[in-house]
Amino acid sequence: MRFCKKCVMPDTRPGITFDENGICIACQHAMKKKTVNWDERHKELENLCDKYRRKKGGEYDCIIAVSGGKDSHRQVYTMKEEMGMNPLLVTVEDLFTPTNAARHNIRNIAEAFHLHLIAFKPNPHAGKIISRYMFEKYGRPTWYFDRLLYTLPLYYASIFNLPLLVYGENVSYEYGGLDCEETYSAREQIFNNVAPDIDLNEFRQLGLTDDELIYLTTPNRDLLDKLDPIYLSYFIKWSDQSNYELAKQWGFKDLSGEWTRSNHIDNYSHIDSFGWGLGSWMKYPKFGHTFATDASSRLVRQGLITREEAVKLVEEKDHNLDQRVRDDFCAMTGMTTHEFYEALDKLYNRDIFEKNEFGQWRLKTEYYEKRRKGE
Ligand SMILES: [Zn+2]
Repeated sequence: MRFCKKCVMPDTRPGITFDENGICIACQHAMKKKTVNWDERHKELENLCDKYRRKKGGEYDCIIAVSGGKDSHRQVYTMKEEMGMNPLLVTVEDLFTPTNAARHNIRNIAEAFHLHLIAFKPNPHAGKIISRYMFEKYGRPTWYFDRLLYTLPLYYASIFNLPLLVYGENVSYEYGGLDCEETYSAREQIFNNVAPDIDLNEFRQLGLTDDELIYLTTPNRDLLDKLDPIYLSYFIKWSDQSNYELAKQWGFKDLSGEWTRSNHIDNYSHIDSFGWGLGSWMKYPKFGHTFATDASSRLVRQGLITREEAVKLVEEKDHNLDQRVRDDFCAMTGMTTHEFYEALDKLYNRDIFEKNEFGQWRLKTEYYEKRRKGE
């Protein structure tokens, strides 16, 4: 395990690479972004919108996959207010307990921008069984919802015959992952390994029927090729802070006064539901880093905090599994806390973790040193 010299990202992140100076690909991309001509990119987006804008009105022009979060507010603002499009919003709910902020935000996004929104509520029976199975076997507790989040907007775009499908940022490109070439097209996003294809026989063996497994398969190539899914982060200057500020102006609420999370450094990202947070937190036992590493690395790249400050935040936060996340996941899947920890214990990566004198998993001491030094 080695760490970027500039930010605090380790090489255990799937797909990340480092250059000969020890700088990670996400930092290299962030530096490259500073040279982008945003006026030109804006023009490219206008041209693309013109291609898909329906002339006579009374019809949708595009689909936007939204969660109600700050980035969703930015996507809708750009497409509706700046580009003058008439988007159809689609959202995929999960089966966890939503935060009050999320309840407000998903309602707000349709209300503030005067739009229609389709909310898909997944099959609870399949959701419970698959979530528990995927957690215990692969450490992917939110795979079922993440998968639907990836597949459904594509199916909807096809059903409504709306080729222009708008996503926010290209996670692989911005933060290091399998996509290393910058492109506006999100057509290959489904293959980025966030919620990979799984042989459905695994779920059939759990007693689930094909009727319950609808929409879990990757849309076929013919369908994908008819669509033009895009990453908005290619066309506009994208940042957590500016999206948050803009979203607030349009009525977005953060978690202030509702939930202080033990493993986050902000109160406005990933705020949809309590249990869903387990999905991203699982990067910690598997790869030794999670939210605080991701978020503080971004702040370092933007010059908002120093590397030393980022190390401190990561050491304070990353290992914490927030109790409300754990309890909500157990409540949804019907697991006891004991069963939960028994499964979690097996998922810690023995190459990078060891147990301390209190029986808690901690990164091996050498990695704390390496992270501090950036080597
Ligand atoms: Zn870096």
